[in-house]
Amino acid sequence: MPEAPATIAPITQDVLTIPRKLPEGGLRNLVGLTRDQLRDALIAAGTSEKQAKMRVGQIWQWIYHWGVRDFAAMTNLAKDYRALLAEHFEISVPEVVTRQVSADGTRKYLLRIAGGHEVEAVYIPEETRGTLCISSQVGCTLTCSFCHTGTQKLVRNLTAAEIVGQVMVARDDLGEWPVPGAPKDETRLVSNVVLMGMGEPLYNFDNVRDAMKVVMDGEGISLSRRRITLSTSGIVPEIARTAEEIGCLLAISFHATTDEVRDRLVPVNKKWNIATLLDALRDYPRLSNSERITFEYVMLKGVNDSDADAKRLVKLISGIPAKINLIPFNEWPGAPYERSDWERIEAFADIVYKAGYASPIRTPRGEDIMAACGQLKSATERARKSRAEIASEAGL
Ligand code: SAH
Ligand code: SF4
Repeated sequence: MPEAPATIAPITQDVLTIPRKLPEGGLRNLVGLTRDQLRDALIAAGTSEKQAKMRVGQIWQWIYHWGVRDFAAMTNLAKDYRALLAEHFEISVPEVVTRQVSADGTRKYLLRIAGGHEVEAVYIPEETRGTLCISSQVGCTLTCSFCHTGTQKLVRNLTAAEIVGQVMVARDDLGEWPVPGAPKDETRLVSNVVLMGMGEPLYNFDNVRDAMKVVMDGEGISLSRRRITLSTSGIVPEIARTAEEIGCLLAISFHATTDEVRDRLVPVNKKWNIATLLDALRDYPRLSNSERITFEYVMLKGVNDSDADAKRLVKLISGIPAKINLIPFNEWPGAPYERSDWERIEAFADIVYKAGYASPIRTPRGEDIMAACGQLKSATERARKSRAEIASEAGL
């Protein structure tokens, strides 16, 4: 028997939450605005109420269907109207600081956003689909003890623009915007989006919702709500809203089968425990009109990977249409856990499978570039800046 690791208290951290400060006198970014917000912005800049709806449609298509960033290229708008737009607005996406490509084709983008903060997005090509994993916050206020992002000190919510912008940056890099006049190409390089990067999406609900509305809009990027998966550590009060206001697929970072262990792995469990979480989940498929909930379960050697755990897991979720994604733990420097042995993971998967649930084992992707689940942590933190440096960069 391998020796079980000693009990590890959740990493408690000194979180610094930075409010976002918009550059004064700067141009307003049109990316990430909902159709209503875009309309209001255009009217405020002098577009007549009568024309506003048509202008929203035209500009929306240029930005999200064609991927245009320059008002001058919007050839179905009059020249003086294009000039008016350029005077008031910009079409701006996060800046790509570095792009790493793994031996397995996974691409990791380090992106710089306002205030000098950095976030990561990861593109994972597979045979039948291409999944883009995007971030919803810089860092995370939660402190799951197995997650690298949770050890990051600096936290701020991403704006809707910065969330949509990650999808746009990936499409830029993959050359996915349609070419005018070329035959319509239905193959999608970014065919799926998962909110599984840095941050807890349900602690940034409004921006995540608005961003996903933009991504789902049929006259633009046009990803169906069934191709978007939001992963949460279990912020119970926001789960019904996710069903009603976004309607995407849901993944839950479950990771343990007793409150005692889950308290330690996912400390937010102390606020909303397993029973409370499962109650909220029972309503999700009906409310969101989606089929199954994904339960994510990270395999930690000697911590949550026994046969008894597997049996308890299937009992707990019985009655919920579900699939269980087993995630071999991805190690990071200084991590207090080890990955379960392969045979253990397979034995666990087998019990879950025999109980009637799909139990895929997630192949770690992009490990050579630290792009796998839970390894994301931007260079802002790696450089270990002082609070003063970070605050001054953020313009505080
Ligand atoms: N905050 C959200 C989404 C981001 S984390 C959430 O917790 O669900 C995305 C997934 O990666 C979660 O299931 C998370 O538990 C898992 N994860 C985090 N660190 C990991 C690690 N080191 N190895 C494997 N999976 C990890
Ligand atoms: Fe935050 Fe998710 Fe990491 Fe937990 S697993 S610290 S909720 S990003």
